Amino acid sequence: MASDRAEHCSFCGKPAAQAGKLIAGPAGVGICDACVTTCGRLLERERTKEGKPSATAEGPALQEAPQKTALAPVKLIAPATLRHELDAHVIGQDHAKKVLSVAVYNHYKRLNDRLVHATPSPAGDLAEVELDKSNVLLIGPTGTGKTLLAKSLARMLDVPFAIADATTLTEAGYVGDDVETIVLRLLQSANMDIDRAQRGIIFIDEIDKIGRKSDSASITRDVSGEGVQQALLKLLEGTICNVPPAGGRKHPEQQCIRVDTSDILFICGGAFAGLDRIIARRAGAKSLGFIAPQNDKPALSAEEIIAGLQPEDLFSFGMIPEFVGRLPVISVLEPLDRTALIRILTEPRNAATKQYRKLFALSGMTLEFSKDSLEAAADKALALGTGARGLRSVLEGVLLEVMYTLPEAVMGSKFTVTGEAIRGEKPVTVTAPKSRKSA
Ligand code: ADP
Repeated sequence: MASDRAEHCSFCGKPAAQAGKLIAGPAGVGICDACVTTCGRLLERERTKEGKPSATAEGPALQEAPQKTALAPVKLIAPATLRHELDAHVIGQDHAKKVLSVAVYNHYKRLNDRLVHATPSPAGDLAEVELDKSNVLLIGPTGTGKTLLAKSLARMLDVPFAIADATTLTEAGYVGDDVETIVLRLLQSANMDIDRAQRGIIFIDEIDKIGRKSDSASITRDVSGEGVQQALLKLLEGTICNVPPAGGRKHPEQQCIRVDTSDILFICGGAFAGLDRIIARRAGAKSLGFIAPQNDKPALSAEEIIAGLQPEDLFSFGMIPEFVGRLPVISVLEPLDRTALIRILTEPRNAATKQYRKLFALSGMTLEFSKDSLEAAADKALALGTGARGLRSVLEGVLLEVMYTLPEAVMGSKFTVTGEAIRGEKPVTVTAPKSRKSA
């Protein structure tokens, strides 16, 4: 009677004596250890293709970077159209809008050029020309629309978008986040679809805060300054990076997702406070190169900064030349004045006053803002010094009480926010609907 024990691996035919381990199945069926490993790899690849995270926690990263050539090209949107759309969301900042629209258009044109048959190939000597990546640096005070611009563009192009704060990053191996966590965030915003993430946009804020610390400051390693810049260099330029799917530190045995950053557009933002003075001093624009320190007005306008900016001015913030070199497209955002802040309150598609009006309308109430309330809110935000970011908190503070009791208000009531209400001199005015009043 034949034995039920497996004599051979039923997959590769290797005799049991030669197999390291032979796992027996029913009725003489078996599988050797080598075939188990191969099957594991095959399953892993399938999971990768489906964009699912890795199932096992052993061995090196098995996931393949996807084939770019098989992907569909990105639908290009002309710079003028992009800019027109940006106008619906962002007030002012004309230069930045123009620069970004062109940079984004060129970026995706370059991406399509790297796909087979996606664009008509130029003939002759241009056929061999490779287009460089043009990451963008946005310089401007806080709350002037840097993040908003980047986010709005990503939404228009329907590409994944992630925001990172450069100050939370440290060189690999130190307390803080590895730079790969930025890419993980993009991957998450693409629902772990690697192909989509590889065409996304990453906005890195506070980039001016990772300047090299002064040479004499310390003998310890500069892990949150130059170390991070060095780590970001490769990401910005384009590399295959191993992203730990669960976040946190990379672990030698951890399965990683391989993401190619060559087609990810990086937009870096930073306030670079005092840059105007550095440029003015270098250019000798002010008498004897001296600018009175008590004068807190900008020494140069955004336009003058754009015209005068040299890479060395950024070096004086501790940015290393290689890093500055990876951000060839630069724009400077204007500080927002009172008029701009008032426009921001009312004009953009999702303006704060429109949002609050909608919230009230959803409860069957009417909310109105008087002209002087807008001026008062702008003045308050100016005093806060956080650009347009302060506007929302000003309105939120004033409307808190009313929103707290809104469900109890008479249906159809009208709430009017006045300048006095914004300044805290009087409460928000409430008018009950006419029919109820007379009843
Ligand atoms: P930052 O320049 O610090 O990145 P943000 O883009 O995050 O500033 O702006 C914060 C908020 O302020 C935005 O969500 C938006 O509501 C508003 N805001 C800032 N600048 C503008 C602008 N130019 N036009 C319209 N809204 C703006």
